[in-house]
Amino acid sequence: MALIVQKYGGTSVGSPERIKAVAERVKRWKDKGNDVVVVVSAMSGETNRLTALMNDVNPEGSCREKDVILATGEQVTIGLLSMALTGMDCPAISYTGTQVKILTDNAYSKARIKEIDSNPINEDLAEGKVVVVAGFQGVDDDGNITTLGRGGSDTTAVALAVALEADECQIYTDVDGVYTTDPRVVPEASHIPSLALEEMLEMASQGSKVLQIRAVEFAYKYNMPIRVLSSFDDDENAKSTLVTREEEVMEKVMVRGVAFNRDEAQLTISGVSDQPGVAVKILGPISDANIEVDMIVQNIGSDGSTDFTFTVHRNDYDQAKKILNQTGAELGARSCSGDDRIAKISIVGVGMRSHAGVASEMFKALADEGINIRMISTSEIKVSVVIDEKYLELATRTLHDAFDMA
Ligand code: ADP
Ligand code: ASP
Ligand code: MG
Repeated sequence: MALIVQKYGGTSVGSPERIKAVAERVKRWKDKGNDVVVVVSAMSGETNRLTALMNDVNPEGSCREKDVILATGEQVTIGLLSMALTGMDCPAISYTGTQVKILTDNAYSKARIKEIDSNPINEDLAEGKVVVVAGFQGVDDDGNITTLGRGGSDTTAVALAVALEADECQIYTDVDGVYTTDPRVVPEASHIPSLALEEMLEMASQGSKVLQIRAVEFAYKYNMPIRVLSSFDDDENAKSTLVTREEEVMEKVMVRGVAFNRDEAQLTISGVSDQPGVAVKILGPISDANIEVDMIVQNIGSDGSTDFTFTVHRNDYDQAKKILNQTGAELGARSCSGDDRIAKISIVGVGMRSHAGVASEMFKALADEGINIRMISTSEIKVSVVIDEKYLELATRTLHDAFDMA
């Protein structure tokens, strides 16, 4: 007998029929003698609907109230799934994050899980019940409802699997695993049977939204393997992807996948005097406004001046530009400019550690297609470049072919 944590995303619970199909799958696992804990997302589109609703009423509304609203989506699906299960003579009980309790910090809309009380869940499991837990939400020390950020139900599932010492954490979604790149953008993308947690961590942080980055961070920290599968395929031998420790990955390749991100914008301040402290003068006010900076490039000119380029989230672009214009005026900069039509594209693979020249191969492949690179950043197992957004799909296909991922 095993203890399994399963998570079903929005599309997987997007209609009454889908919820009944999920209940049948859960019951099959239960009938095989397993203990099953299920985490569900809100029905597809629901979190967007709630976001639009609260923006219509008051976009400046308090973060606490926003989380109160957003958490309701998952409360509906836990109730529905429990009802579907009991209707099939499979005893089940639903819990919100507050009821479990999934204790988080108080950073509304991006709360981090601090602790999970596994005792009540274990008691229910011992009584033969399936336990259905709301994803994406928790409660802070003062009893306020918090949410974990978009895609956060993945993190709830992995955190629960760790807390309950589960044998497996299964993430059911609308694709049958992790692919070399988003299969909705590049239909020739290849299925990956297994990859390292380190690789998934980089892919998720570079924009592959198949798993939320914090879920992978949790899995990496506590060494909890994750299996990604499709909730739409009932075949027992259906394909899946195991995300696990590097030494357990069957096939080693140089480049595992291509990730991309359209959520960033680029800002440049040119012609500021090149002296100690200039970076903090430029980026200090940006970080004081709680704006996160991703990539940074500084060029030194021959005339003792410097140009400084960095990227921020697109949502922060207007605010960051205003701040930069002000800094530019104070520092006597030649100009400040920006572009929010950029994209970041990255190649990821643990095999890069032992292969020199991967970056140049990437640059050549892009150059052959006439795609200009604006910024570059690298880590041990990743090379990222910023390009014009309009070339993103071409660049993704090009890199996919160049590194034989088709
Ligand atoms: P869920 O609602 O089940 O959490 P998501 O939409 O969050 O589902 O994640 C699944 C989606 O992730 C897929 O439909 C796919 O378009 C996208 N995706 C992005 N990159 C990849 C990748 N490398 N492999 C598989 N899917 C990916
Ligand atoms: N419902 C939330 C979202 O749409 C959480 C999740 O689906 O994981 O982001
Ligand atoms: Mg998701």
